[in-house]
Amino acid sequence: MASESVKVVVRCRPLNDREKAMNCKTVISIDSSHCQCFIEKPGATEEPPKQFTFDGTYYINHSTEQIYNEIAYPLVEGVTEGYNGTIFAYGQTGSGKSFTMQGVLDPPSQRGIIPRAFEHIFETIQCAENTKFLVRASYLEIYKEEIRDLLGKETKQKMELKEHPERGVYVRDLSMHTVHSVGECERIMDQGWKNRSVGYTLMNKDSSRSHSIFTIHLEICNTGWYLNHTYITSQKFLIFNVF
Ligand code: ADP
Ligand code: MG
Repeated sequence: MASESVKVVVRCRPLNDREKAMNCKTVISIDSSHCQCFIEKPGATEEPPKQFTFDGTYYINHSTEQIYNEIAYPLVEGVTEGYNGTIFAYGQTGSGKSFTMQGVLDPPSQRGIIPRAFEHIFETIQCAENTKFLVRASYLEIYKEEIRDLLGKETKQKMELKEHPERGVYVRDLSMHTVHSVGECERIMDQGWKNRSVGYTLMNKDSSRSHSIFTIHLEICNTGWYLNHTYITSQKFLIFNVF
């Protein structure tokens, strides 16, 4: 695991058709080798651009594959080794959160971080010796301050937020789904995605205006041949927040 426990990266998307039709100008440039991002003020050519430094900067030519390999891979690897991990996608509507997290099938380099994490986890499971894994998924949405279970029997029902002295904050009765393969994970992600509240916004007609949390719950259990019993070594979470 990297020494830094929190990493902040920025991804800049290409102009969309609406922005091109309005003759919008790109004001961001990126120096990936120095993880720097520059924003210039249109019309103020004599002013130096504002400069920001992150743990990673990705421009319109970068793929989700690259972001996964550089940023998400070590984090997901950590989860399979017994750490908790969270990937939090934050940004204005239309900035590319869903594109990055859920992704598109074509081109394959733009498949999302969440399906890539499924693949990663199941590859680890297949290679692991003397270890058993239980993988479960949950998917919730926060829409207008209300919580809904996107994989529940009744997706419109409001869920209750509770606090446990040891486990912390949790959603009561949130459904958990055992998954055995990448394909099953993808089906669950699609099913939940379709249950999100879709609200039209000018920026992005597909925008749901909702926040969502997809969690992979990983129970890791050592089954060494020298032991007569099985014990759970860790119960870990990989949480994807899309805000
Ligand atoms: P958000 O979820 O943040 O509201 P989306 O992920 O839906 O935004 O992205 C808005 C639009 O921009 C979508 O049509 C998406 O396909 C496109 N888009 C976002 N990021 C990229 C990118 N890096 N390359 C190409 N298209 C992108
Ligand atoms: Mg979105």
